[in-house]
Order: sequence, then structure tokens, then C-alpha cells
Amino acid sequence: MMYPMYIDGAWYSGDGKHVKDVISPATGETIGTIPTGTREDADRAVRAAHRAAPSLAAMTVFERAELCQRIADAIAANKEELAKVLSMEHGKPYHTEALGEVEACITSFREAAEQIKWMNSEIIPLRDPNKRAFAYRRPRGVYGVITPWNFPIGCASAYYLAPGLAAGNTIVWIPAPSTAAVASRFMRCLEEAGVPKGYVNLVIGEGAVVGDAVVVHELTSAVAFTGSTPTGNTIASRAKAKPCLLELGGNGPSIVLADADLEKASDALIRGSFANAGQICTSTERVLVHEAVADKLAELLKAKTAAVTLGDPFDPGTTMGPVHNRIVAEKVVAQVEDAVRKGAKVIAGGNIQADRPTALYVEPTVVDHVSVDALINTDETFGPVIPLIRFQDESELPSLIASSPYRLSAAIFSDNVGRAMSMAEELNFGFVHVNEAGNYWETQIPAGGTSGSPSGYGRSGGKWSIEEMSEIRTVIVTLSGEGNR
Ligand code: NAD
Repeated sequence: MMYPMYIDGAWYSGDGKHVKDVISPATGETIGTIPTGTREDADRAVRAAHRAAPSLAAMTVFERAELCQRIADAIAANKEELAKVLSMEHGKPYHTEALGEVEACITSFREAAEQIKWMNSEIIPLRDPNKRAFAYRRPRGVYGVITPWNFPIGCASAYYLAPGLAAGNTIVWIPAPSTAAVASRFMRCLEEAGVPKGYVNLVIGEGAVVGDAVVVHELTSAVAFTGSTPTGNTIASRAKAKPCLLELGGNGPSIVLADADLEKASDALIRGSFANAGQICTSTERVLVHEAVADKLAELLKAKTAAVTLGDPFDPGTTMGPVHNRIVAEKVVAQVEDAVRKGAKVIAGGNIQADRPTALYVEPTVVDHVSVDALINTDETFGPVIPLIRFQDESELPSLIASSPYRLSAAIFSDNVGRAMSMAEELNFGFVHVNEAGNYWETQIPAGGTSGSPSGYGRSGGKWSIEEMSEIRTVIVTLSGEGNR
């Protein structure tokens, strides 16, 4: 089955010659094909979005809210089918994760519909009594939206598509090529919802080709990107003065203090590390644990990891699927080997299972006694691994935290919530969790990295995305005087 692009309200399969197979990470089978778009396709999409922009911007917020509700209804009507394609193409478990991601899409469009109705414009008090100043929230215009493969439709909907449309922007969406089939299936919901042509366009192809063409296009007003730090840096430099919303990598620490409830902390760390097979920017990437409780925590994590069921994404008993691609699998193995060379000990998992249809079934893994210089501590892993880095005294924490430059999310586990709260307020991360895994998120929560860090810039989620994806137009009116005669 071909999963086509959607440009200017029409389905488009490219020239028919440049196509790519969609391969299931779970079975290795070909589940369809996608076109490989060109810079010309991206240009057509941007021009379509540009033509459509005035009509969307002219809609009242109530009409835009209605449009978002219709999209949510269409997604809900296609929930199982969307989750099926998502699970097949990405590898995430259908029952425990793919259905939930589709739910998040529905919630995102419903919430954007609500939020936009209450985001009032402001009247600014002035020194001159003869004048009035108004600050209107206006769409930016054509948005280039470039998204990663880890939450192909959930991230796209929550961060950009729902808030971007609600704010009145037209969109050219470039999904990651390895999850373009589900993006194409998702676009059918927008078509069913009667979204007018040009409002949302889907261009499928290599990011460095079609994504770049959208970023540099003279008619693109702004860019929203979620993905890796190197790609984010390239996009920021290519976008020049265009506003960029950049959600990049993470390697957040989870800090387990000596007074933590270890049962609850270990449950949270398991969720934080193995949800989506660890392929979340806010995953529990490294655990800094006080020596006094480290043995006990390691024991609990080992036992609870044994209860994680790695398997076929469509098996209802599966709680973790294969990783999405070879790059992730190889990075996990390389980082675990590096940690072991530097003195760490694998206490659970550590292998790619050999008796599976693909080489992507990476075992849920726990590595203890990880040294500070190990790559698994200093770099983002983006896979199902819990590295334990032990400390003797809390005074070591600042340098341990600083041993990795990312500043997206962090977590603190302690029975003293007041103290943990004070620490959370001090930690220079985009968002900090107390007694919860770093990847806990709801669609209305602002997420993003600390400015100046490799984790990006801006906040996504709920009204924060709407704010980022709109701009203020100021109108100043002189009530009487020469100008009014
Ligand atoms: P990636 O950077 O390789 O690709 C992301 C997207 O960028 C894809 O659609 C790709 O096609 C496109 N792209 C690649 N080169 C491009 C270019 N030169 N110009 C324009 N577009 C280009 O990232 P990935 O491997 O898909 O995703 C994993 C990364 O995303 C991880 O580092 C993870 O931490 C990060 N991530 C961050 C968040 C967040 O909210 N901060 C959320 C999810 C994932």
C-alpha cells in the first residue's frame, strides 16, 4: 500500500519512481511504500500554505476551535486503524502505547480548541490619555513543522499541529521518513474533518532535502522542530532570522536521595526508562543514587526489569516493543560496552535478543557502578537502559549533573517533599519532577529545554505552544486631535 503526501488538498504519490519501502521494526516485513519527495514538492506545499494563510487567519477563534474539534472527532473515529499503522511502523506496543498516543492526539486538538477561545488580546495602559494601545495575538503565517519518529503523531499533534492551527497558521509538515506512513494515514483524518486545502500539507522525504527546502523557503514564516541537537543546530542556522521553536535532545538525571521511598522510586524509574523502549527525550537517561540506598535500589530495579515483557507489539502481554532502528540498537550496545570497559556491571539485560525476527529487540537493561566518564552518563542514549551512578555525598551532585550538558528534564526522589521542592527550584532544567519519572507529561504541560543548552529553546504543550506559534500585533489608536479631523 502506498502512503502518499498531501499537498494543497490533494494526495500525491510523487513521480512513482522514487519510492521507499516501509519496513516493520518488529517483523522486518515490508508493510507499504512511501514516496521520496523533492525540493519542488516542498516548494509546492509552502506555496499552497501561503495561498491558504489569509483565509485561515481571517477565521474567528471560534471557527478555528470548531475545526480543531472536527479533527479530534475524525481521529477518534479512526483510532484503532491509526494505532495499528503506528504500531506496525514504529514498533511500539499497540495496547499499552500506540492507542495512548492516538488518545493524546485527540486530547491535543480538543484542548487547543478550548485554549484558543480564552487567550484574550490585551489593552495596554498608556501615559497619553488620548491614545489606546491593543496587543492582538496573530498567527505567524506559514509554519514549517519538522517532527521525529519517536512519537510520530502524538508529538506532532500536541506540540505543533493542534496549537499551530488553533493559532491560525497554515502548516507544511515534514515527518521523519521512517514514520511517514502513519503521518499519511493521520492526514486522512484531517481530510475527513473537512480541513480546507492548503491549511495542512504533508511532504514526505529526506529531512535534509524536503525539510531543508521548507526551512529556507522565502514564504515560510517560522519553523517548529523536534529532533536531535545536531539537526536542530543545522535548522537554526539555515532558518536565519525566522523564529524557531526547537525541542532537542535530553539526558536528564534522576536523583535518588538517601531518604527516598525506594519502592515508589524504582517503579517510576522503570516507567521512565522503558516506556517507548526508552526512546523519549525526557526518559530516565541516568540515575544518580546515594550510596546508602544504591544496593537496595539496584536490587529492586533488577527484579522489576525482569517483569518487563519485551515482545511483539501486537501481543496484549507485551509491555515493551523493539527499538525503532539499528542506530538506536547499536548505540545502546556500544554505550553499555563502553560503561563495562570503564568498570560498570550489567545487572539486567544488556543484549539484543537473537531469536527474534529483527535485530531490534534490545533487552531492558540496568547497569550499575557506572563511572562519570562513561558515554552512557555523558551522552543521550535514547534506548531502554537504566545506568546507576553512585554518589557518597550530596555535595557531589552539581558536578555529576554537569557531566552531561543537556538541560531538558530532571527528577528528584525524596521523602522530604519540601527539600526536594527547593532542589527542583534550583535545578536549571526545563522541567523537574519530584517523586515521578522525568518523562511524565500531559499535553497541557509546558515542555522544553533550558536556553543556551543543547536541549533547545522555547516551550511546547497547551497554551505555551499557541503562544510560541503566534505573535503580537500592536495597534495604537489616537482618539482625538489633528489626525482625526
Ligand atoms: P533527527 O534530528 O534525526 O530527525 C528529526 C527530523 O528532522 C526528521 O523528520 C528528519 O527527517 C528531519 N531532518 C533531518 N535533517 C534535516 C535537515 N538538515 N533539515 C531539516 N530537517 C531535517 O532526530 P530523530 O532521530 O528523528 O529523533 C530523535 C531525537 O529527537 C533525539 O535526540 C531526541 O532527544 C529528540 N527528541 C526531542 C524531543 C523534545 O521534546 N525535546 C521530543 C522527541 C525527540
